[in-house]
Amino acid sequence: MNARAIPITPVAPTPSSPSQAVVAPNEHTCGKTKSLQDTGPHDQPQSMCPAFGSLRVGLRMRRTATILSGSACCVYGLTFTSHFYGARRSVGYVPFNSETLVTGKLFEDIRDAVYAQADPESLDAIVVINLCVPTASGVPLQLLPDQINGVRIIGIDVPGFGVPTHAEAKDVLSAAMLNYAVTEIQSGPVAAPRQGRSALPTVTLLGEMFPADPMVIAQMLAPMGLAVGPVVPTREWRELYAALDCSVVAAIHPFYTGCMRVFETAGRPIIGSAPVGYEGTSSWIESIGRAAGVAQDKIDAAKQAVLPGIAAALARTPIKGRIQVSGYEGSELIVARLLIESGATVTYVGTACPRTDASAADRQWLEARGVAVQYRASLENDLAAMHAHSPDLVIGTTPVVQAAKQACIPALYFTNLISARPLMGAAGAGSLATVINAAMGNRPRFESMKSFFGEAGMGDQAGVWEDKPQAYPEFKSMMRRKNERAAAKRKAEEMGA
Ligand code: SF4
Repeated sequence: MNARAIPITPVAPTPSSPSQAVVAPNEHTCGKTKSLQDTGPHDQPQSMCPAFGSLRVGLRMRRTATILSGSACCVYGLTFTSHFYGARRSVGYVPFNSETLVTGKLFEDIRDAVYAQADPESLDAIVVINLCVPTASGVPLQLLPDQINGVRIIGIDVPGFGVPTHAEAKDVLSAAMLNYAVTEIQSGPVAAPRQGRSALPTVTLLGEMFPADPMVIAQMLAPMGLAVGPVVPTREWRELYAALDCSVVAAIHPFYTGCMRVFETAGRPIIGSAPVGYEGTSSWIESIGRAAGVAQDKIDAAKQAVLPGIAAALARTPIKGRIQVSGYEGSELIVARLLIESGATVTYVGTACPRTDASAADRQWLEARGVAVQYRASLENDLAAMHAHSPDLVIGTTPVVQAAKQACIPALYFTNLISARPLMGAAGAGSLATVINAAMGNRPRFESMKSFFGEAGMGDQAGVWEDKPQAYPEFKSMMRRKNERAAAKRKAEEMGA
């Protein structure tokens, strides 16, 4: 039996993309100029094109094709990045010019491309992503057919001026797919998961995580008679049904607001935070157990099964030092919790993602321990915190890490070195210490390099020189006077205006 019905409460129709509600035609930018609605990090170009988040979610799903509609330079960058990250799959592209854009022919070209691709033998779904220019021009993807020959068509707008981070763009596509899956469930029985339906009530995990983490979580849930469900974003269409068929949703990454709306409307309770560290795991198991209606003795048994191991791992691998954490992945707060439980002093946590209810418990826990938590953090926020708190280690994005190293502060890339490790349970408790303690021990090496190289290659000596750079102090002072005069003139004009 491969079909089943999932009880679900009716959902109100929603736009295919949250961004559709905020788009105005005169706002298309690459974050290069200001938009009135967007006050996030993409207000200035500090992150990669957000559409990469949606593109990556589509490319990682089985039997799913992705088509981009946007400027050729944007598409070049996005396909380059997706192949850099091992997409191993073609990305579709519908090009346009001024004429096809303004006459509406672009929409017809997209529709033709979708029809040409819609082969039910090889595809479950086709995702069409409007980038900045087609979104701003109002190319109406919602007018595409819902399905062609049984292949589902998902059209979303993911412009840089409406979706501040690529993390949130993952939510845009995931939520659109969940919405679609809800309508299918409401229409009748749907396909069961490939490995069959779980006999136990399940917990759906929201947010991409290290591959071992769902297995660790499954072991934590077992004493409560619960099983781990799919991770959203899913890797296959039919997993969307299983995700909706859960008892509880664990919002491990708290920025999936679109997905949370779908789960809420379907009547599924949502629990924030994550099973990280001793306190984090204890309160997470308690919350999940209660939300799933598990008896208190089973909740206590689940805690007892894992907490001693976590306490032992934390004691075995302590972290000593002042650490600053920032990133755009959405897991920054739980990483900071784990660091503090490992013994570190965390001074500041910056996340490019927005403040949500699902992150409230982690924020309160951190603030109670004196941590400054900054949502929608910009590069300037992160650098100002670094200069204010003088941490022993900075965990951050590429420009933050670069600035820290220039200041002789050891630094680690969040994406490559922190997200690529388990965080949950006892495995997570010991996983960060090795890399973090090794990095903090590197400070003397930075200082000896700094004293060896001195000011070489700094400021106006940067670049490749065939001869030793010559100083021209008279030219510098002439330029300084010129700049001062220009600034004074600007100021006078502003006051006169
Ligand atoms: S789609 Fe928009 S945000 Fe992305 S690269 Fe192009 S202009 Fe920039």
